[in-house]
Amino acid sequence: MGLNTIVFGDITLGWVLVWLGVLALLSLIFKIYKALFGKRKVNLQHTVYFVCRHCGWEGTVSKFGTRCPKCDAPTGV
Ligand SMILES: [Zn+2]
Repeated sequence: MGLNTIVFGDITLGWVLVWLGVLALLSLIFKIYKALFGKRKVNLQHTVYFVCRHCGWEGTVSKFGTRCPKCDAPTGV
């Protein structure tokens, strides 16, 4: 059985092997992407959107940080 062996219709064994390689590569990229996205999602759970009443600064801050990064006003109340 060579790489030019017809598997089905015009599809050769070489063609099938190339596409299996491409699919393996795509699934690997997807796994890496999923791992990175998963980590980012965990980080987002620890941040909250915050608008400072004192200086108007807005952005995401850590849930555990209790002060505005710009003017140091308390974020809690
Ligand atoms: Zn502020």
